[in-house]
Amino acid sequence: MCLEPQPVYLDCAATTPIEPEVMETMTYHMGHEFGNPASQMHSFGQRARSSVEKARNQIANVVSAKRSEVIFTSGATESNNLAILGLADEGRKTNRKHIITTQIEHQSVLSPMNQLANAGFEVDYLPVENHGQVNPELFSTILRPDTLLVSIMQINNETGVRQPISEITELLKDHPAYFHVDGAQGFGKELSVLSLPRIDLISISGHKIYGPPGIGALIARRRGKERPPLNPLIHGGGQELGYRSGSLPVHLIAGFGKASELAVTQAEQREKKCREFKAHLLDALSPLDFQINGIPEHIVANIINLRIGEINAEILIDALLDYVAISDGAACSSASTVCSHVLSSMGLSSKQIEASVRLSWCHFTPEPNWGIIVDVIQKLETIS
Ligand code: PMP
Repeated sequence: MCLEPQPVYLDCAATTPIEPEVMETMTYHMGHEFGNPASQMHSFGQRARSSVEKARNQIANVVSAKRSEVIFTSGATESNNLAILGLADEGRKTNRKHIITTQIEHQSVLSPMNQLANAGFEVDYLPVENHGQVNPELFSTILRPDTLLVSIMQINNETGVRQPISEITELLKDHPAYFHVDGAQGFGKELSVLSLPRIDLISISGHKIYGPPGIGALIARRRGKERPPLNPLIHGGGQELGYRSGSLPVHLIAGFGKASELAVTQAEQREKKCREFKAHLLDALSPLDFQINGIPEHIVANIINLRIGEINAEILIDALLDYVAISDGAACSSASTVCSHVLSSMGLSSKQIEASVRLSWCHFTPEPNWGIIVDVIQKLETIS
C-alpha cells in the first residue's frame, strides 16, 4: 500500500492528538469498565465509580484543588456556560449585577455574557493593549462593590498570549467577586497559575491536553466550606452533586484523568520540546518579512500567531496544504467569516487580520520541511 505523505499537523490549539497511554486507558475502560458509576449495588458500578474518582483526583491535582471540587462537563464550552449563567441567580438575589470580562474571550464566554447583558446585567468588556494583554490597572478602575463575577482567560487561544491572572487575583484579594478563569489553553501546560486559591472557577477541556474530546470539567473551589452558588444548566438524575446531571462517560473521564496525570509528570520535557520547536520555526522563517501578533515574552511555548507581509491567510494556508495544517486564527470560529475579535481588540487593521495565521504544535510534533515551506512562501511574496 502506498500512503500519501501527510502534512505536519500544526493546529494543536484547536485540538491535540491523543497520547498513546490515554488511548490505552480509554480502550480498557470501554471494554472492561462499562458499568454506570451511579449503580453502586454491584461491582461493575463500584469499579466504574472508583475509576471516576481516580480521574477526579488526577485532574484536581493539576491545580491543587480537591477531588470534590471537580464537576465533569462535556468540555470547556459547557464549563464556561455553567460558570457564567450558573451565577445569575446569585446576582439577582444579592443585587450584584455587574460583571467584568475581556474583549478577547472565547465565544463560549462571550455568548453567555451577552445573554446576561440582555437579562439586565451590566457587563464590562476590558480591551487588550496592542501586545495582547489586558491591563490590570484598568481592571482595578472598573471593579465595583457590586461586581458579581470576573471572567478572564488564562491564555488566549488565537495568539497564545498569557493574561495577567496572578495580578488580577491580587487585585481581588479583598473583594467578594467570583473569579472565573477559562483555562482551556493553559490547564496541564502552564501549571502554577491555576493553583492560585483566589481563583474560584476554572474551565478545562480534555482534548487540549492529549486527551479525548467530549469531556471537560469546571473546577469550583470552595471558600472555606462554601461552594460557589451555581445553579445547574442541565437537570436530571442529580449526578455531580446536582451541578450537572447525566450518566458519566467513564472511558472519557478515565482518559482525561490519565492525560492530566501525564501533563504533570511530563510537564518539563513537553515544555522544552515545544520551546525547541518554536526556536526552529523562528529560525527557519527568519529570511521572511514576518510580524508576531502579541508580545513574544508572554506567548506560550506551543503557539504563534503571525503575518507574513500582506500575504492573505487563506492563500497562504492553501499554498502550504501539502506540507503543514495551520489555521487562520481560532478554528472554533473559522467556520464563520467574521474577522478575529481578538486581533481587532489588539488594534490590527483588517488587512493585517486577514494576513494572520496561527501555528500551534505539541511535544510530539515532527519537524516540517521548513526549507520547502519558506520557498513556497517566498514565491507568494513575489506575487503579492
Ligand atoms: N475556551 C478556549 C480558550 C478554547 O480555546 C476553547 C476551544 N477552542 C474552548 C473554550 C472550548 O472548549 P471545548 O472545545 O472543550 O468546548
